[in-house]
Amino acid sequence: MNVDGVGEESITDFLLWKWASIDKRFRSINVSSFTRQEESKVSGADFEMEVWLVGKGLVYPLVFQAKKFIKQYDAYVNKLNYPKNTKNQMNTLLGYASSNKRIPFYAFYSIPDKKTTAMCRHNDVFDCGVFMAHAKVIEQFADGKHGRKVSKNDLLKVSNPFHCMFCCPIAFQGYFETYFPSIDGELDIKEIPAYVSYLLDVHENEVSEEKVKNFIKEHELGQFRHVAVYDMRELEESPNK
Ligand SMILES: [Zn+2]
Repeated sequence: MNVDGVGEESITDFLLWKWASIDKRFRSINVSSFTRQEESKVSGADFEMEVWLVGKGLVYPLVFQAKKFIKQYDAYVNKLNYPKNTKNQMNTLLGYASSNKRIPFYAFYSIPDKKTTAMCRHNDVFDCGVFMAHAKVIEQFADGKHGRKVSKNDLLKVSNPFHCMFCCPIAFQGYFETYFPSIDGELDIKEIPAYVSYLLDVHENEVSEEKVKNFIKEHELGQFRHVAVYDMRELEESPNK
């Protein structure tokens, strides 16, 4: 809130680092730290992150664009039509998701206030700084379907706290289908990519830089700043389900 210069990228770096440090089921690669070293690749990443939630019977591949939205009003309709009111960034996200069977999301790095609500009422939003919303829902705001004056709370109202997908009472039980219904039909993942399997199963201290570099090249991961996996293969079977 107090440091304007801290943008989405730094916040994501910090969050993913914290997440990995508290939870061994989470693994991520800072792809940009690899691609940055390559010449003529200044900022090739189109997307903030790709996150694979992998359970025994379900796989949710999520792709995120991130926005730091702090003020109550801040020309959000224009900001969602980035850059320069072309909406190219959002179109890239939606297009990529539909042709690659990913679920497109916006991650809002934000600060709730007394009037902030989210879709799920099971979790308190007041201690939350990361929200997620389906990109197709956010597109309606970009297209002016909710007027030109859109507030931060208007956007958070169609979002859920990021952590909700793990600790919601319906986590692992139709959570995505309930809150982000337009994913229906988009998902039919039978196989997970080799880099996802690798990250799921490799020991955290044995991630090979060379392997990662090869995956980045082969799977064109340079379009993401981060690639992450979350291993829910054990969680899904928990007896208190
Ligand atoms: Zn919830």
